[in-house]
Amino acid sequence: MTEEKQKKGIAILGSTGSIGTQALEVIEEQSEHFSVELLTANSNCDLLIKQAKKFKPNTVVITDDTKYNLVNDALWADDIKVFAGENALAQCVEMDGIDIVLTALVGYAGLKPTLAAINAGKHIALSNKETLVVAGDLVTQLAKEKGINIYPVDSEHSAIFQCMVGDFQNPIEKIYLTASGGPFRGKTKADLANVTKAQALKHPNWEMGAKITIDSASLMNKGLEVIEAKWLFGLKPEQIDVIVHPQSIIHSIVQFEDGSMKAQMGLPDMKLPIQYALAYPKRLKSNFTRFNFLDYPQLTFEQPDLKTFRNLQLAFDALHKKGNAACILNAANEVVVDAFLKEKIAFLEMPEVIERCMDEITFTAKPSLEDYVNTDKETRILAQELI
Ligand code: MG
Repeated sequence: MTEEKQKKGIAILGSTGSIGTQALEVIEEQSEHFSVELLTANSNCDLLIKQAKKFKPNTVVITDDTKYNLVNDALWADDIKVFAGENALAQCVEMDGIDIVLTALVGYAGLKPTLAAINAGKHIALSNKETLVVAGDLVTQLAKEKGINIYPVDSEHSAIFQCMVGDFQNPIEKIYLTASGGPFRGKTKADLANVTKAQALKHPNWEMGAKITIDSASLMNKGLEVIEAKWLFGLKPEQIDVIVHPQSIIHSIVQFEDGSMKAQMGLPDMKLPIQYALAYPKRLKSNFTRFNFLDYPQLTFEQPDLKTFRNLQLAFDALHKKGNAACILNAANEVVVDAFLKEKIAFLEMPEVIERCMDEITFTAKPSLEDYVNTDKETRILAQELI
């Protein structure tokens, strides 16, 4: 076997976003372990071209097909195949050289390419939590059938996964997902009535894309993570707890049946969970900044405020309700976050719209993929009408 063949072939769906660019930094640093096979972007063709020229993937996909000529002209001399459109995304993840697909797309758009990758027998490094929120039953069932692994990239779920290593045969009693509490921790409803997009985009600990940063401010991110954890680790709702930990040093905790708790900690830096997911089961030597206890003399914990941050309660409601409830929650949330970012809706109006969608969209107990697609469509239409 040649040196080249021992490298893991990586596909990055959403390479120009926050997780995608950080994944490429990891791959650049660890180039003896990884090769880039496929890069895809929604519409940021300038960055996609730059990344392709540097990392020389076999193929790139630009989802926005109006940009095809631009990307193709820029890359034709580099011997890189260029495709455009959403269908190309689902087809290209099946390529032979790919071992792991990092799903770093934002939102519902991640569902179909993730299913295509699993169908093609590729392991998944899952950053796109919405895929499991929308259709966790179908995705995990298909992964089981195909014998593929889903490695979490989300820092909390990576933490739980890291705590499980060596304990996969031992049942989990419960998990604690830690939450920073976001920029509005400790605020009252009155405080939140007039908060601006700029305030919501200022996360205290993590550097992330716009959608997830708003989700963190509203605690919807934690709600989506609760549902993601249920599917990743096969848990019942009552086995999942959320604890606010403003320093974001303990990334999550597993409690086993003997009462012992394992926590994973470190400085908040997404590059670590990205590298762990791509390199598993190895821990690769890195130059990430090391934790210093004296910088954090106190690690603190508090209850989340479910009355002020209604989204987290709504996510727990969806988790208990099952069926297509979380799909409705997610679709409505994507619409309201987009509207909030466009300053068409106030911060506290977001949970109101989501709750009405959950009340009004038809509940399906055992949805098929088609049912999920329809639920997503119908919910988006209703949410738009309510805004
Ligand atoms: Mg997270």
